[in-house]
Amino acid sequence: MTQPSSTSISATPAAPSACGVPRCSQPALVSEDGLHGFCRMHLGVAAPAARERLAVTARRLAALQAIWDDPQAYEAVVASDRFLKLSHATCVATEMFDSARERLMLSILQSEANGGGGASLKPAPTRSIA
Ligand SMILES: [Zn+2]
Repeated sequence: MTQPSSTSISATPAAPSACGVPRCSQPALVSEDGLHGFCRMHLGVAAPAARERLAVTARRLAALQAIWDDPQAYEAVVASDRFLKLSHATCVATEMFDSARERLMLSILQSEANGGGGASLKPAPTRSIA
């Protein structure tokens, strides 16, 4: 069995050039903990729980990606009949990463709607919009 193209499972752009928040032109951070795709300012206003969730899902996805990218690890998976498990785990991890990224985006947008800047110091308020 040949190793599939990494583009078929890639959910983490190698080096996004701009922050993922609409109308933001700041460069996105690229870090080991997976908090990439957003600029420093927007990561700062996101809810800590949302940042943590993105970091956890990004690490999980990166660990699975490493198996796909390492020919020896990949062959070991195939030889041990765990290819479908790896594929399924990668699909689930990708969905969780995408979901975490969407939640972080919502957290940023909610923070901005509430005046911005304070979400990193306190939980997002749950009041209704007057
Ligand atoms: Zn930004």
